[in-house]
Amino acid sequence: MLPYTEPYKIKMIEPMYPSTRAQREKWIKEANYNLFNLKSSQVYIDLLTDSGTGAMSQEQWSALMSGDESYAGSRSFDSLHETITSLTGFPYVLPTHQGRAAENVLFSVMVKEGNVVPGNAHFDTTKGHIEFRKASAFDCTIDEANDTSVYHPFKGNVDIGKLENIYQVYGKERIPMIIVTITCNSTGGQPVSMENLKAVREFADRYEIPVIFDAARFAENAYFIKTREKEYQNHTIRDIVKEMFSLSDGMTMSSKKDGIVNMGGFIALNSKELYQEATTFNIMFEGYITYGGMSGRDMAALAQGLKEATTFEYLESRIKQVHYLGNLLQEAGIPVQEPFGGHAIFVDATRFLPRVPREEYIAQTLALELYLESGVRAVEIGTLLADRDPETRENRYPRLEMVRLTIPRRVYTRNHMDYVAAALQNIFERREKITRGYKIRYEAPIMRHFTVELEKI
Ligand SMILES: *Cc1c(COP(=O)(O)O)cnc(C)c1O
Repeated sequence: MLPYTEPYKIKMIEPMYPSTRAQREKWIKEANYNLFNLKSSQVYIDLLTDSGTGAMSQEQWSALMSGDESYAGSRSFDSLHETITSLTGFPYVLPTHQGRAAENVLFSVMVKEGNVVPGNAHFDTTKGHIEFRKASAFDCTIDEANDTSVYHPFKGNVDIGKLENIYQVYGKERIPMIIVTITCNSTGGQPVSMENLKAVREFADRYEIPVIFDAARFAENAYFIKTREKEYQNHTIRDIVKEMFSLSDGMTMSSKKDGIVNMGGFIALNSKELYQEATTFNIMFEGYITYGGMSGRDMAALAQGLKEATTFEYLESRIKQVHYLGNLLQEAGIPVQEPFGGHAIFVDATRFLPRVPREEYIAQTLALELYLESGVRAVEIGTLLADRDPETRENRYPRLEMVRLTIPRRVYTRNHMDYVAAALQNIFERREKITRGYKIRYEAPIMRHFTVELEKI
């Protein structure tokens, strides 16, 4: 057997920024030990997020040149519309400037004060847009999602029993929709099975409640269905995608993920009536219905990106790269969340650094160690992110303190993955010596992780 290789070669290059440990010590201190405060030129390999950080193909760059910038009736909108409709089956499409904007427009129509919106672990902006409207988001993910010691191929699945309980308490009137996030970002990029999507559809039909997919990583979800759900192993990705969306009434999309573009989003719907209502809000918040906050050229690149993202060749390389890194870490004995998700590897910081007290921000301590060791920027998914209880103002300690290594699409090579794994391995070898973490010097009242200032203990 021949070794696996990336299915693309490099035409244009972007410099990386190597640095010394002494430089990084100075920079991170100036950044108040907050990785968000670093300049990109102070980072060697950037694994902060996979959102909008991907590399476009030559076909996408060519599409940019032929973008049609007409205010209304743009040819580039037509091409985006046709692509979305042919992939998803949804006849109505509204472009928006990014995913949260799609949520803002659609929820302006659908979510009212006092509503409850069940789903599988809502993404934070989704939850934010629900709570902003004085409604509640209820997490109905299966229990296995929160147990790193059990294997489940679809840890993004919705627990139908939990949906049923919510229905019994609140009834149809207070449930405007069910949101299924594919893949489930908040549980670690974990997929939802077709079987489960069908079960959600059945439930929704029984009680006449619409189902909306938060579809940022829908193509990665389709890959997991193909590779983990026996019945689908001989289906094409596009057939799976079509079948997935046939089980929902509409979708919101962050094109910065599986659209493989740097900015953009959209809403796609079955219902003409819902589309017409959403149109008003789109025009108010985003722009006219044939551009909604996007340039013509960007819509053209997105149409092409969606086509590429729904090929097996692309998805296999994408997900194999993420899992290659996960396997390297696992072989080194580093505790990581399993099964690996689609877009990131999560390192279990509590098990990695057992001597650092949780009051001193274990996952942040590990993320900072990784930066100091190697210039790799990861992101804390732990106590800083979980923030304080709004009532008691006490720190909320999440069940898991994680460091997320998020892999941008088509940007880094296998050598870069080797480098990241080696850096973590070096830290793992001296983990017993790391006993203290950080304390907060300044924090904002909400979303503190973006602007927090820390100091070393
Ligand atoms: C990124 C993301 C969003 C929000 O999209 P933006 O483009 O960042 O505004 C919503 N839901 C999920 C699942 C996401 O991953």
